[in-house]
Amino acid sequence: MGLKRQKQAKKTISFYKYNFSFRQPFQILIDGTFSQAALKNKIQIKEQMPKYLMGEVQLCTTSCALKELETLGKELYGAKIILQRFQVRRCAHFKSPVPASECLLSMLEETNPHHYFVATQDHTLTAGLKKIPGVPLLYIIQNTIVLDKPCQTSLDHVQAVQLGELVSPAQQQSIRSLKEEQGIDQKDGERRGRKRKRKQSNPNPLSCLKKKKKGKGVPTPPLKKTEEGEKRKRSRHKKPKDDTSAAVVTNT
Ligand SMILES: [Zn+2]
Repeated sequence: MGLKRQKQAKKTISFYKYNFSFRQPFQILIDGTFSQAALKNKIQIKEQMPKYLMGEVQLCTTSCALKELETLGKELYGAKIILQRFQVRRCAHFKSPVPASECLLSMLEETNPHHYFVATQDHTLTAGLKKIPGVPLLYIIQNTIVLDKPCQTSLDHVQAVQLGELVSPAQQQSIRSLKEEQGIDQKDGERRGRKRKRKQSNPNPLSCLKKKKKGKGVPTPPLKKTEEGEKRKRSRHKKPKDDTSAAVVTNT
């Protein structure tokens, strides 16, 4: 089960790396619900997260998420202590804190430009982030961290990009660079094609020459033998005639 889980995670991570330019260190935006679940299930986030994601991670949260835990009281004190150890990313609610789910959603903006993973058990937040393409979701189930498979929004987005339907300037840039790469590839292909054509035209006369040599070499020996044989036979017949004629000449 562990290996299967790790294999699935690897596949999902490479999906985000390839299609949404995710790079290490992975930014993991964590809320109080995830922190609380980790505490309950005795999961050391700092230890487990890089192992599971097979790379460097930066664990972070927001001041709104911390404030929310504070207001919820003693029951979530442990979760707050854990969350406090992580980097606090600046959100837009410095003066008036908002619910953590609202805050984390705002951190993702429309296209998750900072490449955040979101670690949460909050269904409101989960439902919200699944409407944004390219947001990997982490949650805890049965004492383990799970990286959710890409949601339909992400899959649709990738398909739209592949079909050339642009959605954002960032994607336009990525497509421009893709087209440039393709253009370079096409030029290379043409060059390679020309070279190949030259190579093809060159060996043809060479092979013809070789064939001619072989043609001369192979059939001639039997011809020579037969000619020699004929000559010998003829010469045997002719020799006496020649001898007689020569003799005649010499005689005369
Ligand atoms: Zn906030």
